[in-house]
Amino acid sequence: MSRTSSKFRVATRGTPREINRSIVLNLLRANQPISRADLARMMGVRRGAVSLIVNDLLRDGLIFEGATGETVRGRKPTFLYIDSRRRAVVAADVRASETFLMLADLLGNPITGVVGMPTARDPRELAKTLAKRIKRLLSDHPEVDACDGVGVVVPGMVEHSTFRVLHAPTLGWRNVDLREPLAAATGLPVHIENSGRACALAQAWAMRDASAEASGDLVFVSVSDGVGVGVMIHGQVLRGRHNIAGEFGHVPLSLDGPRCSCGSNGCWEAYVSNRATLARYFGRPVSDGPVSSERRHFTINDLITRARARDAKAAAALEATARYLGLGLASVINALDPARVYIGGEITQAWDLIESTVRSAVAERTLTAAAGETDIRPVAATEHPRLRGAAALVVAPAYAVPGVA
Ligand SMILES: [Zn+2]
Repeated sequence: MSRTSSKFRVATRGTPREINRSIVLNLLRANQPISRADLARMMGVRRGAVSLIVNDLLRDGLIFEGATGETVRGRKPTFLYIDSRRRAVVAADVRASETFLMLADLLGNPITGVVGMPTARDPRELAKTLAKRIKRLLSDHPEVDACDGVGVVVPGMVEHSTFRVLHAPTLGWRNVDLREPLAAATGLPVHIENSGRACALAQAWAMRDASAEASGDLVFVSVSDGVGVGVMIHGQVLRGRHNIAGEFGHVPLSLDGPRCSCGSNGCWEAYVSNRATLARYFGRPVSDGPVSSERRHFTINDLITRARARDAKAAAALEATARYLGLGLASVINALDPARVYIGGEITQAWDLIESTVRSAVAERTLTAAAGETDIRPVAATEHPRLRGAAALVVAPAYAVPGVA
């Protein structure tokens, strides 16, 4: 048995039939196109056993048979593929400032561009406009026959069993049910998860392809209006007893620091979020309410552009964020000692400007020199990690990803 499949065996829960199906789907996902004979070899089972599982998946339309492969001594094998041709999922990234949408295939890859809309603070209102945009997106893509569901990432803590948003500080939400109105309005299954957690999940899932890299704990830090952190330990998404595990965004860097969206002072988020960086640039408190329209339309991307154009104030604001980002990362590393930390968000576009400051701040506060050299990798904003995370919420369970199955 190959290392990959044995990993899935250990990680999967369910009936033997479900386990076998997800092993085949995972092997296909990582190795497609692939023949039945190759599958049998990788799984260490007889061809007949593989054919039973494959026929099952063909009947359910989850995979399809494609072009005939190279002739191998007379017999021409047909190749198997994950059927991601006409089925899609909706991925939604709800942020305090804006909500983004796209369609993804069953492998979690984008099949449309990203559309944005303002985020209504009233969850029912948001569900209504979101449903309208989802319907339009689907009708604009008639090639998509079936939509398997909607994955939504939110900037807050989410109860795993009910999908209730327990607390989303930047939205001012407590105990909000977004799923029910959205499911009712779209007629689709809706999955909701914390953005950082979904990003960690999608990242771990994507790494399944490179099994050598799949080992080791990882942390995903998503920097946007707030700071979302997702932690994968031993292949499981860390949730904790009350679904708040990993909320490093609200661990204080300083007890009397700037006011945070959660109501406390000096949280990491209040130093490094896009709002914090912009507030620093404009010389106003991060928690300030309404701002002038000129300032409202000035984004972190504009600030990065100005920093590149040698605007000293913009460069200083970014530099300070880089240092605070590194100091907070040091706490994350000291607490969890992960194999790798991923950073997502617009700030990664300035990675070449901030990397050395981030790394020296990490090295300054980590407890050993080796920990100070923890692998830190930016994930480009163009890869849409949060939307990929949202898509993974719908598609990953079919592959029985640990922690989701
Ligand atoms: Zn806070």
